[in-house]
Formats: sequence, C-alpha cells, structure tokens
Amino acid sequence: MILLYGDLGMQEFTDMLASGRFEDPQLAKRHSFRVVERNAAALARLGDMIFYYAELGMQEFRSSALLAETLASGGFEVERNLSGFPTGFMARYGNGDPVIALHCEFDANPGNSQVPGRTERAEIVSGAPGHCEGHNVNAAVTITAALAIKSAMTSFGIAGTLKVFGAPAEEQLISRPYFVRDGHFDDVDIAFHAHIMDAFRTEYGVVQLGMMSVEFTFLGMASHAAMSPWEGRDALDAAVLMDVGMAQFREHMRPGMSAHRVFTEGGTQPNVIPARATCWWFFRDRSPEGVRALFEQGDRIARGAAMMANCELETSVMAGVWPVRCNETIARAIQRNIEAIGMPAWTPEEQDFARAVQTNAGKKAIGLRDAASPLAGPSEPMAASNDCGDVSWVVPMGRIWFPSNIPNAAFHHWSAGAALTTSIAHKGAVAGAKALAASALDFLTSAEAVREAWRTFRIEIEGIEFRSLLPAAQKPPVELNRGLMERYRPLMEPHYLQGRPEFAFSEGG
Ligand SMILES: [Zn+2]
Repeated sequence: MILLYGDLGMQEFTDMLASGRFEDPQLAKRHSFRVVERNAAALARLGDMIFYYAELGMQEFRSSALLAETLASGGFEVERNLSGFPTGFMARYGNGDPVIALHCEFDANPGNSQVPGRTERAEIVSGAPGHCEGHNVNAAVTITAALAIKSAMTSFGIAGTLKVFGAPAEEQLISRPYFVRDGHFDDVDIAFHAHIMDAFRTEYGVVQLGMMSVEFTFLGMASHAAMSPWEGRDALDAAVLMDVGMAQFREHMRPGMSAHRVFTEGGTQPNVIPARATCWWFFRDRSPEGVRALFEQGDRIARGAAMMANCELETSVMAGVWPVRCNETIARAIQRNIEAIGMPAWTPEEQDFARAVQTNAGKKAIGLRDAASPLAGPSEPMAASNDCGDVSWVVPMGRIWFPSNIPNAAFHHWSAGAALTTSIAHKGAVAGAKALAASALDFLTSAEAVREAWRTFRIEIEGIEFRSLLPAAQKPPVELNRGLMERYRPLMEPHYLQGRPEFAFSEGG
C-alpha cells in the first residue's frame, strides 16, 4: 500500500480512505508532482529527442511515433492517423465524465537548425529545419503531465477520461480544426494547451488571432520568352499582380488585420514563360468574420489578377482557424497552481547563458525571469495564431505558458533555439508539466469546477456559434513539406539521440 501510494504514508492513506477524500485534489496533485519529479530525466530526454528530429509539419513521423508509443507504454489506448493525419494521434485513458483533453504540437520550422547550448548562431545542419520556438518541449511537457495525471487517477480512484491529442503542423495552423470538425472534442468538458514561453503565466480572453492559410495557384501557358512571348500566358505576372493588388488593399484593412505571403512557385528559368505560379498567404484578424472577409478580398484580387494575365486560378484553403480564447475560470485555477509551484530556481550559469544569448541576439541582457507572472486578462491578442483556436470555441480551454525559454529571444530566431535542450528548458518543463497536471486534476476532481467553467464560457462567447472556417470537404495536406524533409532527413539522422526516454510507470509514480 505504501508503495502503491507513493508519497502518502500508511496512516495518511488510511485517513484518506476513512474521510472519503479520494478526490481531494491536493493529495492527487502532490502525487502528480512526485511523478513528474521522478520522471524529470525522461521528460528532458523526450523533449531533446524531438528537438533533434526537428520534423516539419505533416512530416513529424518519428516525433509522433515516439510520443504515441510513450503514451501506449504508459497505459493509454492510442489511435493513430487521427482525422486522416498520418502523424496525428489521440490517446485515451479512463472512463466516463468528466472528459479532460490535453493537446500539443511537435513540429519544427524550415531553416531553423540551431546547435543548442551555444550562445551564437550555429547550425547543426546547414539550411535544415530546426526547433527555434520549442514545440519539442511542449510535447514532452504534455505527455509527461498526461502520465502523471493518469498515475493520480489510478492511485486515487479518480473517475473520468483523459484524452491526449498529438496535433501535427501547428506552424501551418493545420490539424486541430480537422479534429474539431470530425467531432473529437464533442465529448470534451475542459481542454488544456501548454506552450513554451520565457515566463510562467496564464491568461484569459481572446489571446491569439484567427487565421486562414490559402494557396493561390495561377495557371498559364509556357512558351519561349524571347522568340514567342505572345504565345505564352505568364502565371508569374498574375502572381505579381495579385501582390500589387494586396499591397494597395493594405490601406483599407481594418486595424488589427494582417496578411503576409511567400511565393512558392514562379517559374524555373527566364527564357521559359512560367506556366505555374503559386503564392501562399496567411490572413489574420481577431474575429472569424474578419478573417473570412480578408480572405474573400484576397480571393477577389487573385481572380482579378488572373483575368489581367489571361490565366486560370485555383484557390486552395489549407487551413482556417478561429482566434484562441481562454476561459477565465480555468485561468484562475491555473494561476493558483502556477503560484504554488513557482518559478524554477536558476543557477548563475543559467543566468549567464541567457544573458550571453540575449547580448549576441542584440537584445537587452536581462537574464531569466525569477518570478511567475500575475494573471493576465482580459488579454489583448498577440499577433500570432495557433490552430487550437477552434478547440477554444467549442469547449472551455486554458493555456499554460511555461518558462523553458529565454526572455527577448524571438520565436523562429536562432536565439529561441539556443536553450531548448539545456537545463533551462528542462527545469521549465518540470514546472510546466506540474502546472498542467495540477490544473487538469482540479477539474477532474470537481464537477462544480467544470460547471463553473461552462457557465463563464457561455457568457464569454456571447452566443457566437462556432462554424469551421475549413471548407466542408477539405482534406489534410499530407504532402506538405515532404520534399524538404526528405532532402534534409539523411543529413540530420547522424545527430539523432539514441535510446528512449525511460518513464517509470509504477503506480507509486
Ligand atoms: Zn508555437
């Protein structure tokens, strides 16, 4: 019995039985903290392994397999290929209500290869993808928290269901809207998202913008650019004209809207008139109607550009996500846990490392934060988006920002990759996993807390009915990033970490 209940002594456990406090969240939380602490090395290893896999969205085969297998060997029932995503999964443990969902991403970014532990720009593999934000740590925190919650549920006889989602291609804002559209959140009562940050904090309100990701492909006719240009129809002309149209339109965008693009196809050599040109746009706003209106304007401009260049147009919506909103009731529960756990104690070496990275990145050398942040809300949305937005309009959702990165290191810049396998990331991850486990246990053990979150959620969404921005028949873009990943994977493989994270799954944690 003492073994079974980990940090509870026999007397304490007998008292608990006598008092009927099976669902006392404090005991369950303490237990989950012990599980996280005992598994700190495995948590670190899991995040580090995914760091070196550095797989781009839709191509996260190794990362996804490692996470799914870790959950399966921890006693979760795992469904792979979720919603037609080869790298998507859902793991489930337990039965009945309440249903608590944790969801995480694990993708890297192109051109972000960075040697961790170095205080200046240094690539592991030149030009390769890499983690310079920290989704590797997000996944490790979420999976470790899930294992700790499951251990607490088993040890304390806590009823309910825990669902853990592995969400591919967050950087392209792709997968979670499909999971929502396909009903995987229909039975969920409360959802949580944990994301790396340089602070330990939470917030409520609309915290990130909605977005549509759209590819515009112009189709023309090739011909010799010098000898018979009149025979050709130049698809690149159409793409350029769309760009001009969007640039003119910027003045008329509502404040808070934003749009940005890359050209992904535009011909191969100058003496062949390009028969195909593609530009890929992100359209953002704080409301789903604004996102849709901005996309529709972009589509009108694209059609006009195609007409001017005598080309055809194919418009493909790759992703559509609602703004991210966080529920106040859940945020208050998270905040209590963050304050109880506290910021990790940083060593002088960790502070020196952070200051060196900040200095070399041309930023103020303020070091690492030494205290958790106060509750923020209602928040002003940050300029970025996250594909968990859809989740947050169908179920009350909480967000934990955990302190595994360096202040003033901008995401997708080398400086935000420098700490990702160091003790800074590892200590922040322990704090994050504890906060996530404790917050989930708050709602698993209290039907009243779940009811209160739903009461405030209904007020917060002001009667707005969620309607997916995805076209109904849209399929996951499974080919996305395939070529890029195939090119770099063989060069990256020699750097992979060997061995697996060794989690201790005994019920004592
Ligand atoms: Zn992110």
